[in-house]
Amino acid sequence: MARIAENIMLLRQQIPLSVKVVAVSKNKSAEEIIELYNSGHRAFGENRVKELVKKKEILPDDIEWHLIGHLQGNKVKYIVPFISMIQSVDSLKLMNAINTEASKAGRIIPCLLQICIASEETKSGFDADELVRMLKNLNLRSLTHVKICGVMGMATFTDDHEQVRSEFRSLADTFKLLKNRYFSGDDNFREISMGMSGDFRIAIEEGSTIVRIGTLIFGKEIET
Ligand SMILES: *Cc1c(COP(=O)(O)O)cnc(C)c1O
Repeated sequence: MARIAENIMLLRQQIPLSVKVVAVSKNKSAEEIIELYNSGHRAFGENRVKELVKKKEILPDDIEWHLIGHLQGNKVKYIVPFISMIQSVDSLKLMNAINTEASKAGRIIPCLLQICIASEETKSGFDADELVRMLKNLNLRSLTHVKICGVMGMATFTDDHEQVRSEFRSLADTFKLLKNRYFSGDDNFREISMGMSGDFRIAIEEGSTIVRIGTLIFGKEIET
């Protein structure tokens, strides 16, 4: 069996069926993506708009594309016509930009609120307390073309499993708090996107519903 198809099969065996796997294909070629596609996989994640749009143009139409990287407001219009989910909504300004462009395109875009759970300063996202305060003052109904489906976060890159676990737990806690306060009657608000190649097992134990996996599927990037 081809390597990529075998990798996804072995991975899928370790993940409950209720957890969705988004294959992170950033920096991977169209050929590699097609190999995975031909094994039946449809959900792919990219972190750059330019690369995503290029791949979208040449790859099959029934691929479900997820944006997982920081998005600038002025680039929203390029992905809104086709994107399945924007997992990396990290500001109110961006949420408003998505709402505006989605309305023009006649689409409702599923989005996740990215929350900063890591101790590293480099990872973007809402501060959890700030987000709670923001939602309190926000009329969610005014966002007619954004569907808020849950939260996303990245743990610190560390070998300390207990730290990773406690960061994932804090994301799950924030999800529950938001669910109770603002989304209790909303069945769309149900996703916790957490877990990558190095930490997906811990993430699933802490309640992840979507894992984003690159290296374990496509292999390590060759250092140049
Ligand atoms: C690259 C990336 C991943 C996948 O990382 P791997 O360690 O290769 O599985 C997941 N989420 C985000 C936001 C990423 O940028």
